[in-house]
Amino acid sequence: MSFKLIRQALNGNGMLPRMWRSHPVRDRYDVVIVGGGAHGLACAYYLAAEHGITNVAVIERGYIGSGGSGRNTAIIRSNYLTPEGVRFYDESVRLYEQMATELDFNVMFSQRGHLTLAHTDGAVRTMRRRAEVNKLQGVVSELIWPDEVERLCPGIDVSDHPRYPILAALYHPPGGIIRHDAVVWGYAHQADRRGVHIHQQTAVTGIDVRGGSVVGVETTRGYIRTGTVLNATAGWGSTIADMAGVRLPLTTFPLQACVTEPLKPFLNVVIVSGSLHVYVSQSDRGELVMGASVDPYTSYSMDSSLAFMESIAGHMLELFPFLSKVRVLRQWAGLCDMTPDYSPVMGFTPVRGFLVDVGWGTYGFKASPICGRTMAELIAGDRTPDLIHPFRLSRFEEFDLVGEKGAASVGH
Ligand SMILES: Cc1cc2nc3c(=O)[nH]c(=O)nc-3n(C[C@H](O)[C@H](O)[C@H](O)COP(=O)(O)OP(=O)(O)OC[C@H]3O[C@@H](n4cnc5c(N)ncnc54)[C@H](O)[C@@H]3O)c2cc1C
Repeated sequence: MSFKLIRQALNGNGMLPRMWRSHPVRDRYDVVIVGGGAHGLACAYYLAAEHGITNVAVIERGYIGSGGSGRNTAIIRSNYLTPEGVRFYDESVRLYEQMATELDFNVMFSQRGHLTLAHTDGAVRTMRRRAEVNKLQGVVSELIWPDEVERLCPGIDVSDHPRYPILAALYHPPGGIIRHDAVVWGYAHQADRRGVHIHQQTAVTGIDVRGGSVVGVETTRGYIRTGTVLNATAGWGSTIADMAGVRLPLTTFPLQACVTEPLKPFLNVVIVSGSLHVYVSQSDRGELVMGASVDPYTSYSMDSSLAFMESIAGHMLELFPFLSKVRVLRQWAGLCDMTPDYSPVMGFTPVRGFLVDVGWGTYGFKASPICGRTMAELIAGDRTPDLIHPFRLSRFEEFDLVGEKGAASVGH
């Protein structure tokens, strides 16, 4: 990247080439992807890069990354609860490890370690179980005790003074954080270079289904003929599925987060507490990035609330009492489509050619690369890859759920 910049400067051409371009909307694409988040763009990239399918449109109502992909707190990890989940997310971590080289873009992936705190005997049991499931799948993950927690995270209160003292933690060294915008931009750039059309400020308003198959989509910039539509719209997943007449088991909740003013570096791990409903990491700029679980009501509103701020401040101070004078700079919210088992829905639907990559709840950003890659494989081969078979839509009528609530509710 730096060589490119130097070359650019010596050429006397101060303008860098555009990362992605605008195009007229074609009247036909082989694949139309609804949603210009990390998932939709990753799928477009892998379709082009690994399967040579380039007549692809990504249709985005706002600007790319304006949904969950630009609003999340960028935690990457694979220490889930079920073998299916661990295998899937672990493949994603591997793709993240290679991403900067693959996309030729610095995504600032920092594998600084991830700690899930246990404050009750029940939570200690769950962490122990997760550690064993993780290890069986080859994922580095272990139960550690308060002295080790304090060593990894100086300043955290491991005394027995808090209401919920820390009894143990699940330590997952490969977990960490990334620059979410860079992931979106990197995929967009590489997809664009390979011929994918990214249409921003273009909303999908209808899906044309005839005889049980998709034949086209209506957009605010005209009708597009296509036999394959991928719904990658995270918090709006059921609104797009409705257009195709497909019902999804999704409930939509707001999820809020906030950052503080920059502080000197002191927190070199990601800290999550499911019992206190809080998690925190420190960004490279020094800001504390904090969040919680979803708001306790369904809504499509992305407003922030004082109730969230009060609750997160109280819980943060239980863990780090010395932060009481730190100021919060900004807060925001995004939308999360939750499934009954806290696992995503990926793959075919009863409508031929209408595919879904939805139900990502509060945890989908970390899955962007592997989801994009496997959905591209599914589209190219018209067959569900083994890795995502457990997450098929039909699991809900087959009573074959993938219960991830114990590892996915607060610990995004
Ligand atoms: C506050 C917060 C914190 C989070 N923290 C984490 C975390 O730490 N780790 C993690 O793994 N996950 C986290 N998540 C979840 C994560 O953000 C999402 O699961 C993920 O970003 C989903 O990506 P996506 O590409 O599927 O969807 P999105 O990025 O939401 O993209 C969907 C796009 O679809 C577009 N769209 C909607 N309707 C239409 C339409 N009719 N026509 C055209 N376009 C449309 C939207 O504008 C949007 O840009 C968090 C989420 C939030 C809100």
